[in-house]
Amino acid sequence: MTSRVDAPCQIWGGTYTGNGYPVIRRGHLTILARRQVFETHHGEILEGQIVMDTCGHRGCVEPTHLYAGTQSDRMRAFIATGQFDGGHLDRQPTYEERARGERIHTAKLTDEDIPFIRERARMGEKHGEIAKDYGVSRPAISYAVRGVTWTHIPDLIPKA
Ligand SMILES: [Zn+2]
Repeated sequence: MTSRVDAPCQIWGGTYTGNGYPVIRRGHLTILARRQVFETHHGEILEGQIVMDTCGHRGCVEPTHLYAGTQSDRMRAFIATGQFDGGHLDRQPTYEERARGERIHTAKLTDEDIPFIRERARMGEKHGEIAKDYGVSRPAISYAVRGVTWTHIPDLIPKA
């Protein structure tokens, strides 16, 4: 990867998530601004990749400070600090829980929303904050993030 490491941070002047990541609207979706910036300057983000920063500033959208990597990369980066909270299940959900979750908790979400919701959660955003954005319950977000619901959408957080 080529990057100018001496470029200063560009701090986002627009809307932020509840925990400090810039977001933009793309159609009816709310997506992380760093995703848009990365795609514009570096190209496609592969499935399963998230966009991370090299400078440690959540609000930074300087293209040369952004890189795409997998959740495993992110986990390794955070393993020492314990800051990562992806909301892992401590057990497999039962069949009944899966069915119930799909019926009750997915009314206002669409297939398109799910990868973005999961990504925002991976970046450490509280499920309740994401839920507010989408007008759904916090459990609806938690189930989607954990892969209890929306099981047909790929890019699930691996179970620990
Ligand atoms: Zn930066």
